[in-house]
Amino acid sequence: MTQRRPLIAANWKMNGSCELAVQCCEVLTQLPASNTEILICPPVIFLNDFPKSDRYQLGAQNVSSEVSGAFTGEISADMLATAGASYVIIGHSERRALFGDTDALVLAKTKRAIAAKMTPIVCFGETLTERQQEKTMQVLAQHLDAVYAAHPELLQHSVIAYEPIWAIGTGETASPAQAQEVHAFIRTYLKKYDDAAASKVRIIYGGSVNAENCAALFAQPDIDGGLVGGASLKPAEFAAICLSAQDS
Ligand code: PEP
Repeated sequence: MTQRRPLIAANWKMNGSCELAVQCCEVLTQLPASNTEILICPPVIFLNDFPKSDRYQLGAQNVSSEVSGAFTGEISADMLATAGASYVIIGHSERRALFGDTDALVLAKTKRAIAAKMTPIVCFGETLTERQQEKTMQVLAQHLDAVYAAHPELLQHSVIAYEPIWAIGTGETASPAQAQEVHAFIRTYLKKYDDAAASKVRIIYGGSVNAENCAALFAQPDIDGGLVGGASLKPAEFAAICLSAQDS
């Protein structure tokens, strides 16, 4: 890890319960104090089940690109911030693939989140076919451009998540070397927008992170933490992942 503050984020997706929130709080509040930032992104209905704590932050998994109005089923950035979310995941591959989140929407949502004083965790990653065709860097450059080319000022307020789509929820993890190669590419690429912000931006890795593989990933110089799906639903394992970031 690096001088950048490690961030370990739990993405519960459409899973969990009040009971899981209570268990999660119990385990996380027992962790020793550290520099690692811990973030839980449950379904928004459970945000209120997490008591305020200085051991963790809360976030959302999506946000509307609109401010307010006739958008049935949507939740605005201001509403999320009022409900206690200080982060929001934007452009997760499941949102891009299943709910039509285009690059344009990802940009609009990123702007809304920042305007509401939340930190967007903007997700990027390649498909297995794109990796096999050796197009990983090209695809990432294209998606990064879509958000930051016209709005480089957003970078200093963002966290980037590199999530190879072939590794999400599959049990297949990018090797530490594979992940480091892409994280280093992203950081170098972003320098053309804002050199200082690119050095400072946290780039976290997501894709089947678990208690066994996390230490080797977090030891890489450009990996600043993890976005954890399945393993974040097991409080003890998630706590072990948080501890591992602390040691790296
Ligand atoms: C994710 O939800 O962003 C994710 C990486 O999931 P998993 O850890 O289950 O692969």
